[in-house]
Amino acid sequence: AIEIRDLHKSYGAIEVLKGVSMTAYPGDVVAVIGGSGSGKSTMLRCINMLEKPSSGRIAIQGEAYEMRQLGTNAMEPASPKQVQRIRSQLGMVFQNFNLWPHRTVLQNVIEVPIHVLGVPKEQAVARGRDVLARVGLAEKEDVYPAFMSGGQQQRAAIARVLAVDPLAMLFDEPTSALDPELVGEVLSVIRDLAAEKRTMVLVTHEMAFARDVASHVIYLRDGRIEEEGPPEQIFGDPQSPNLQQFIRSVA
Ligand code: ATP
Ligand code: MG
Repeated sequence: AIEIRDLHKSYGAIEVLKGVSMTAYPGDVVAVIGGSGSGKSTMLRCINMLEKPSSGRIAIQGEAYEMRQLGTNAMEPASPKQVQRIRSQLGMVFQNFNLWPHRTVLQNVIEVPIHVLGVPKEQAVARGRDVLARVGLAEKEDVYPAFMSGGQQQRAAIARVLAVDPLAMLFDEPTSALDPELVGEVLSVIRDLAAEKRTMVLVTHEMAFARDVASHVIYLRDGRIEEEGPPEQIFGDPQSPNLQQFIRSVA
């Protein structure tokens, strides 16, 4: 499980997360929705310590990050090794694909297994081909990212994460940089992963998709969870006026 307890995050004097708690149990697909600036990316990035929480507790599979207090409202990970180890089990997919431009698709996919996880090359290549096939890119292994569409690049980025067989996957608006006609192919890959019961935390503005694949939906507003629940409730019977308005505004 991914557990977040009373997470606060400030940038200078501005508090952007004001006490967020959530748990993603194994197999859960937690969709995080909310307006621009509500803290969605910050929350996601704290899960793998790309951002340092100001206070609060985050645990992955029951193992909490060890933190060192810095003054009253700041802390940092006490063990970079622990961060690296936990992070290697969390696959993160960003808005902008983040593939290595000077490596082919297959090289992108096998890099971390070989050089970080120590998987023998043959085995990494075999698994790399397997995950590329699963995202529909079997024919593209020798292509450089610049020669692929945005949808193909994002599917390659997902394959790269799958290649390490992560405990959980974190998605931050994986389709928001794509041309509309390419969104569907990426959502369909994520939908397959959700059906496999992979644990996921998914920040998205694709409301129909969130309603469809999420097991739990969190509505963030101004650094707090204003409402949460199963998708039928959040989208079908939202309680808070802000959520009602948000859903109308993105529909
Ligand atoms: P969006 O939907 O636009 O991606 P978001 O919900 O992901 O928004 P965050 O990126 O988490 O929002 O940002 C939350 C707030 O924190 C915003 O007001 C943003 O300006 C601020 N913020 C984010 N990163 C930093 C930073 N490195 N330094 C200062 N302020 C930041
Ligand atoms: Mg964001």
